[in-house]
Amino acid sequence: MKSRLACAAVCGALLRLALPVAAQEPGQSAWQSGTVCYEIFIRSFYDSDDDGIGDLNGLIQKLDYINDGSPSSERDLGANCIWLMPVAASPSYHGYDVTDYYRVNPEYGSNDDFKRLVSEAHQRGIRVLVDMVLNHVSSEHPYFKHALLHTDSPYRNWFLWSPRPGPKNAWGGENWHRSPVREEYYYGFFWSGMPDLNVENPEVVEEAKKIATFWIEEMGVDGFRLDAIRHLVEEGDRTENVAGTHDFLREYGAHVRRIAPGAFTIGEVYDSIGAMLAYYPDQLDAHFAFEASDSILSAVRTGSASGLLQPFLRLQSELPAHRWSPFLRNHDQTRTLTALGGDSARARVAATLLLTLPGLPFVYYGEEIAMSGDKPDPRLRTPMHWTHARAAGFTRAIPWEPLQPDSLTANVEAHESDAGSLLNLHRRLIHLRLQHAALSAGQLLPLTASHDAVAAYLRRQDDRAVLIVVNMGNVPLTRVSLSSSAGALPPGRYASTNLLGGTSAASLRVGADGRIRVYVPFAELAALEGYVLELSN
Ligand code: CA
Repeated sequence: MKSRLACAAVCGALLRLALPVAAQEPGQSAWQSGTVCYEIFIRSFYDSDDDGIGDLNGLIQKLDYINDGSPSSERDLGANCIWLMPVAASPSYHGYDVTDYYRVNPEYGSNDDFKRLVSEAHQRGIRVLVDMVLNHVSSEHPYFKHALLHTDSPYRNWFLWSPRPGPKNAWGGENWHRSPVREEYYYGFFWSGMPDLNVENPEVVEEAKKIATFWIEEMGVDGFRLDAIRHLVEEGDRTENVAGTHDFLREYGAHVRRIAPGAFTIGEVYDSIGAMLAYYPDQLDAHFAFEASDSILSAVRTGSASGLLQPFLRLQSELPAHRWSPFLRNHDQTRTLTALGGDSARARVAATLLLTLPGLPFVYYGEEIAMSGDKPDPRLRTPMHWTHARAAGFTRAIPWEPLQPDSLTANVEAHESDAGSLLNLHRRLIHLRLQHAALSAGQLLPLTASHDAVAAYLRRQDDRAVLIVVNMGNVPLTRVSLSSSAGALPPGRYASTNLLGGTSAASLRVGADGRIRVYVPFAELAALEGYVLELSN
């Protein structure tokens, strides 16, 4: 352990001499200037070869849906990054228990198919992140099987063993699992089928770095989403956020930045902002902001703006916007539409907030067409609805998992034919975010609204500003006024352009102190409606 850390420090110092300083700073490069990332479960995206299972060639056929490579076209979603849930060989449907880190799951295709996917994505300006699972492997992984059978196995110290069952975890479950071979126990935080790797073993660290190098240099990816990182290292009965975990991530993040200065690493710390902030400044580039996401869902569900912006303001005060990622839902959570009681108008409001607030936002596939889905997990990850055809155009065979019951209405074809659909709102908002630096990188300035159901804020970048006003209530509101603290905007008179179409707001006069005073942008705010207004002086 000590020698590994010493080596990391010395190597880091040497590399700083050899490479531009920027290469050593987390989160540099294109990721700073307006990225929107789309999370994809390949098994459920599109089946190209009629076996009912989505695959890499299917995803290639659907890349134009994500981004057609033309900035001026709004026929695509406009996302310029995709996060692929695990693509490596695995015995499970979800892939979070890997048996071969160097081979694509044969159900998805071959390594060559994957390289073609990356090439096709890059041609369209889409960067590719893959899920990297380093906390554990599959119990079918050959190294674990060897270590299980042979106490003198070279892989024995890659895992955690005990002659006795260890303590139960905080939820009363077992983390120590009885060996099927002899009287001993191995550690697997999530499940007996997922033995934890001993991430404090320098050989495991070197292997993790070698795997990263393989995916970047051989397969061409642009970075990684790292799974379950708060559980990487255990210290006694502490299984979360311990010092050894930070040590590992510091070394891993530095390795990725060293071999690929433009790459991006984002970690899953399923925890509070306070816990998440301990993973900065010098480990991975970014982390998912679960608290910010919960804040949006909670505000939209209750129709109250109070507290909505607090996690965003806290993150903004601590970190650059490209180093944290809000989202609405991911593959582990009840889908947005279901969480909002099936209310598609509220789903529109949630999307408007996500895509106009700061951070590097992620959208889970199907959220843009208001797919429903609730636990158990496979029902959160059901096949994408493309058309009105049988199996919603996902496959010509029997889909690996039954579709959601609303596939006839919540599908891409239906949304494309409706100018006011959630899909078209996503397309518009994502393109606006990429076109307006104020929306992607601008400072978040909260405004006070005269009604609790109204969220109002500015995104300001130098002399450009966008005003967002969202009525989260289910009734229209009249004469809602907005106010700010001093210095919100340069003094002057502002006209507005409604970036979502429709009428412009009343002009805004800002006095010498830069304060917005009792500004009424519209005589009436429609129920469950968002307004995105560019202000020009
Ligand atoms: Ca297939």
